[in-house]
Amino acid sequence: MSQTIHAPWRMEYIRLLENQDQSQGGCFLCQAVQALGSDPDRRSRRVLWSSSHSIAVMNKFPYTNGHLLVAPREHVSCLEDLSDEQLYDLQLQTVTATRLLKKAMCPQGFNIGMNLGRCAGAGLPGHLHQHVVPRWAGDVNFMSVIGNVRVQPQAMDLLYDELMALIPSITQ
Ligand SMILES: [Zn+2]
Repeated sequence: MSQTIHAPWRMEYIRLLENQDQSQGGCFLCQAVQALGSDPDRRSRRVLWSSSHSIAVMNKFPYTNGHLLVAPREHVSCLEDLSDEQLYDLQLQTVTATRLLKKAMCPQGFNIGMNLGRCAGAGLPGHLHQHVVPRWAGDVNFMSVIGNVRVQPQAMDLLYDELMALIPSITQ
Protein backbone atom coordinates (compact mmCIF):
# COMPACT_ATOMS: atom_id res chain seq x y z
CA MET A 1 0.00 0.00 0.00
CA SER A 2 1.47 3.34 -0.98
CA GLN A 3 1.15 6.55 0.99
CA THR A 4 1.81 10.12 -0.03
CA ILE A 5 4.72 11.90 1.63
CA HIS A 6 3.63 15.10 3.33
CA ALA A 7 5.98 17.85 2.10
CA PRO A 8 4.45 21.29 2.77
CA TRP A 9 7.54 23.19 1.53
CA ARG A 10 6.71 21.96 -1.97
CA MET A 11 4.24 24.84 -2.35
CA GLU A 12 7.21 27.22 -2.18
CA TYR A 13 8.83 25.18 -4.95
CA ILE A 14 5.76 25.21 -7.15
CA ARG A 15 5.35 28.98 -6.77
CA LEU A 16 9.04 29.47 -7.55
CA LEU A 17 8.78 27.37 -10.68
CA GLU A 18 5.62 29.09 -11.85
CA ASN A 19 7.50 32.38 -11.75
CA GLN A 20 10.54 30.86 -13.45
CA ASP A 21 8.55 29.12 -16.15
CA GLN A 22 6.90 32.37 -17.20
CA SER A 23 10.16 34.23 -17.74
CA GLN A 24 12.30 33.78 -20.84
CA GLY A 25 14.97 31.14 -20.43
CA GLY A 26 13.98 30.47 -16.82
CA CYS A 27 13.86 26.70 -17.15
CA PHE A 28 16.10 25.23 -14.43
CA LEU A 29 16.63 22.00 -16.40
CA CYS A 30 17.86 23.88 -19.47
CA GLN A 31 20.07 25.93 -17.13
CA ALA A 32 21.41 22.65 -15.72
CA VAL A 33 22.29 21.49 -19.24
CA GLN A 34 24.10 24.79 -19.81
CA ALA A 35 25.95 24.38 -16.49
CA LEU A 36 27.54 21.09 -17.63
CA GLY A 37 30.65 22.91 -18.83
CA SER A 38 31.25 24.87 -15.62
CA ASP A 39 32.26 23.31 -12.31
CA PRO A 40 30.85 26.01 -9.96
CA ASP A 41 27.55 26.29 -11.82
CA ARG A 42 27.29 22.56 -12.06
CA ARG A 43 27.70 22.15 -8.32
CA SER A 44 25.32 24.96 -7.37
CA ARG A 45 22.71 23.44 -9.66
CA ARG A 46 23.46 20.00 -8.28
CA VAL A 47 23.94 18.47 -11.70
CA LEU A 48 25.05 14.86 -11.31
CA TRP A 49 25.70 13.46 -14.77
CA SER A 50 24.61 13.69 -18.37
CA SER A 51 24.36 11.27 -21.25
CA SER A 52 23.81 11.63 -25.00
CA HIS A 53 20.18 12.75 -24.59
CA SER A 54 19.57 13.16 -20.85
CA ILE A 55 20.65 14.94 -17.70
CA ALA A 56 20.35 13.93 -14.03
CA VAL A 57 20.12 16.45 -11.19
CA MET A 58 19.27 16.43 -7.50
CA ASN A 59 15.87 17.95 -6.81
CA LYS A 60 16.50 21.13 -4.80
CA PHE A 61 13.08 20.80 -3.16
CA PRO A 62 13.00 17.07 -2.49
CA TYR A 63 10.36 14.81 -1.01
CA THR A 64 13.21 12.87 0.60
CA ASN A 65 16.96 13.36 0.53
CA GLY A 66 18.17 11.57 -2.58
CA HIS A 67 15.21 12.70 -4.72
CA LEU A 68 16.67 12.87 -8.24
CA LEU A 69 15.29 14.20 -11.53
CA VAL A 70 16.15 12.63 -14.88
CA ALA A 71 15.20 14.72 -17.91
CA PRO A 72 15.83 14.94 -21.64
CA ARG A 73 18.41 17.59 -22.51
CA GLU A 74 15.88 19.06 -24.91
CA HIS A 75 13.16 21.42 -23.60
CA VAL A 76 10.17 19.18 -24.38
CA SER A 77 6.84 18.97 -22.55
CA CYS A 78 5.18 15.94 -24.19
CA LEU A 79 6.41 12.36 -24.22
CA GLU A 80 5.24 11.94 -27.82
CA ASP A 81 7.66 14.67 -28.91
CA LEU A 82 10.66 12.60 -27.79
CA SER A 83 12.46 10.38 -30.29
CA ASP A 84 12.90 6.67 -29.61
CA GLU A 85 16.54 7.35 -28.76
CA GLN A 86 15.60 10.07 -26.25
CA LEU A 87 12.97 7.84 -24.62
CA TYR A 88 15.32 4.90 -24.37
CA ASP A 89 18.10 7.03 -22.94
CA LEU A 90 15.72 8.59 -20.39
CA GLN A 91 14.85 5.11 -19.13
CA LEU A 92 18.48 4.00 -19.13
CA GLN A 93 19.44 7.01 -17.02
CA THR A 94 16.53 6.31 -14.68
CA VAL A 95 17.98 2.85 -14.13
CA THR A 96 21.37 4.44 -13.49
CA ALA A 97 19.72 6.73 -10.92
CA THR A 98 18.33 3.75 -9.02
CA ARG A 99 21.70 1.99 -9.17
CA LEU A 100 23.45 5.08 -7.82
CA LEU A 101 20.96 5.62 -5.00
CA LYS A 102 21.09 1.94 -4.02
CA LYS A 103 24.84 2.18 -3.71
CA ALA A 104 24.81 5.48 -1.80
CA MET A 105 21.74 5.21 0.42
CA CYS A 106 20.45 1.61 0.47
CA PRO A 107 16.80 2.60 -0.06
CA GLN A 108 14.19 -0.11 0.45
CA GLY A 109 12.06 1.06 -2.46
CA PHE A 110 11.49 3.79 -5.04
CA ASN A 111 8.71 5.96 -6.36
CA ILE A 112 9.43 6.68 -10.03
CA GLY A 113 7.26 8.69 -12.35
CA MET A 114 6.29 11.86 -14.19
CA ASN A 115 3.73 14.59 -13.68
CA LEU A 116 2.78 15.77 -17.16
CA GLY A 117 0.91 19.07 -17.26
CA ARG A 118 0.18 21.61 -14.55
CA CYS A 119 -3.07 19.96 -13.49
CA ALA A 120 -1.18 16.69 -12.90
CA GLY A 121 1.14 18.45 -10.48
CA ALA A 122 4.06 19.33 -12.75
CA GLY A 123 5.99 22.24 -11.20
CA LEU A 124 7.81 22.79 -14.50
CA PRO A 125 5.33 21.66 -17.18
CA GLY A 126 7.45 22.95 -20.09
CA HIS A 127 10.31 20.50 -19.59
CA LEU A 128 9.27 16.97 -18.73
CA HIS A 129 11.27 15.07 -16.12
CA GLN A 130 11.18 11.75 -14.34
CA HIS A 131 11.20 11.79 -10.53
CA VAL A 132 13.25 9.12 -8.79
CA VAL A 133 12.39 9.15 -5.08
CA PRO A 134 14.14 6.70 -2.74
CA ARG A 135 11.93 5.30 0.02
CA TRP A 136 12.50 3.63 3.36
CA ALA A 137 10.07 1.89 5.65
CA GLY A 138 8.81 4.49 8.10
CA ASP A 139 9.84 7.59 6.11
CA VAL A 140 6.20 8.68 5.72
CA ASN A 141 5.64 8.43 9.44
CA PHE A 142 8.84 10.32 10.09
CA MET A 143 7.86 13.17 7.77
CA SER A 144 4.32 13.50 9.13
CA VAL A 145 5.60 13.53 12.74
CA ILE A 146 8.23 16.14 11.98
CA GLY A 147 5.79 18.26 9.98
CA ASN A 148 7.50 21.28 8.50
CA VAL A 149 11.04 19.98 8.60
CA ARG A 150 12.61 19.99 5.16
CA VAL A 151 15.71 18.23 3.97
CA GLN A 152 18.63 20.32 5.18
CA PRO A 153 20.72 22.03 2.46
CA GLN A 154 23.87 20.84 4.25
CA ALA A 155 22.67 17.24 4.04
CA MET A 156 22.04 17.73 0.33
CA ASP A 157 25.54 19.14 -0.18
CA LEU A 158 27.06 16.11 1.53
CA LEU A 159 24.94 13.75 -0.53
CA TYR A 160 25.86 15.58 -3.74
CA ASP A 161 29.55 14.99 -3.04
CA GLU A 162 28.90 11.37 -2.16
CA LEU A 163 26.89 10.74 -5.34
CA MET A 164 29.47 12.51 -7.52
CA ALA A 165 32.18 10.27 -6.07
CA LEU A 166 30.15 7.14 -6.84
CA ILE A 167 29.10 8.06 -10.39
CA PRO A 168 32.26 6.72 -12.11
CA SER A 169 31.58 3.29 -10.63
CA ILE A 170 28.00 3.01 -11.90
CA THR A 171 28.01 4.70 -15.33
CA GLN A 172 29.49 3.09 -18.39
ZN1 LIG B 1 13.95 23.35 -20.30
